[in-house]
Amino acid sequence: MKVIQHLNKSKSTLFSFEILPPLKGKSINSIYESIDPLVEFNPSFINVTYHREEYVYRKREGGYLEKISVRKRPGTVGICAAIINKYKIDTVPHLICGGFTKEETENALIDLQFLGIDNILALRGDAVKTESSFVPEPNGNEHAIDLVKQIVALNDGKYLYEEEMTEHTSNGGFCIGVAGYPEKHFECPNFGTDLKHLKAKVEAGAEYIVTQLFYDNEKYFNYVKLCKEHGINVPIIPGIKPLSMKKQLQSLPKFFHIEVPEELADAIEKCDDDKKVKEIGIEWGIKQCKELIKFGVPCIHFYTMGKSESVKRIAKTIF
Ligand code: FAD
Repeated sequence: MKVIQHLNKSKSTLFSFEILPPLKGKSINSIYESIDPLVEFNPSFINVTYHREEYVYRKREGGYLEKISVRKRPGTVGICAAIINKYKIDTVPHLICGGFTKEETENALIDLQFLGIDNILALRGDAVKTESSFVPEPNGNEHAIDLVKQIVALNDGKYLYEEEMTEHTSNGGFCIGVAGYPEKHFECPNFGTDLKHLKAKVEAGAEYIVTQLFYDNEKYFNYVKLCKEHGINVPIIPGIKPLSMKKQLQSLPKFFHIEVPEELADAIEKCDDDKKVKEIGIEWGIKQCKELIKFGVPCIHFYTMGKSESVKRIAKTIF
């Protein structure tokens, strides 16, 4: 079933979460171990992230360094299919522009159709670590909107180099979600321009938005208001990640370009171990979720990053 159908038919706030494929070499059981504790809260859908290649240097004979491209967390599509099969829960694979030509994207979409996956979160992806800014593949999609357009075309039976297909294999096409940034995407010169780009993604066919994680609900409430003012009227699902380690006070702003409110940062600074940080993270998460539900959000989407304990404790109080 499509995410938008879940959102439209529900009268109360839904629960969903995101997981990461395990590091190469780890078994799929590590995925099941992070899903099992959350199944009792009836997740409407589970997102599975996509991780593009990274470049690593291996030492070769004679002291030479060889640059090798490695994908450390492959398996997004297979994991989505395995989850549907095991839990009968809908999945949302993340698909990115980075590292894909349009042909490769089309092939991935065909795999997803054949596997009966109804949803995609369409993203651009970030630059690889060795590049200073995002560079699309030659004949690849440059922005998430280009990926949205390619998916919409395929939903309409239009393949890249073929005649229009008459036999549709998908269930009326993929439901497409896109990313939104309550604290602005870090590359965009200003909020207004970022919102124009977001609106364009929606007009191209995105049916809902999932936000970057945030710790200050006021930023989300303001974002929803600004989106409405800009004519963006699709559901905006808030993304929540409970803080659990002191070092995240530096790493989260650095990687996700978000702020940690002073009150939360002060409380965490005072902790002498991560056990206490985790408790504060859970308390803050519960407070955030209660306010969001009161505000009437359609769904709360949790970033588990492979660790479900904090999310479970928040969900137990909330759902
Ligand atoms: P876009 O919508 O393309 O926007 C990127 C930037 O370009 C923005 O500044 C935007 O304003 C600007 N822009 C957009 N359109 C245009 C245009 N036509 N002309 C000029 N500028 C434009 N990354 C992964 O690698 N894998 C994942 O699984 C993953 N999952 C994510 C899930 C969520 C919910 C979120 C919020 C992010 C996720 N990301 C993931 C990170 C994401 O790929 C990065 O944030 C990336 O930098 C931007 O992706 P986007 O889809 O928002 O890009």
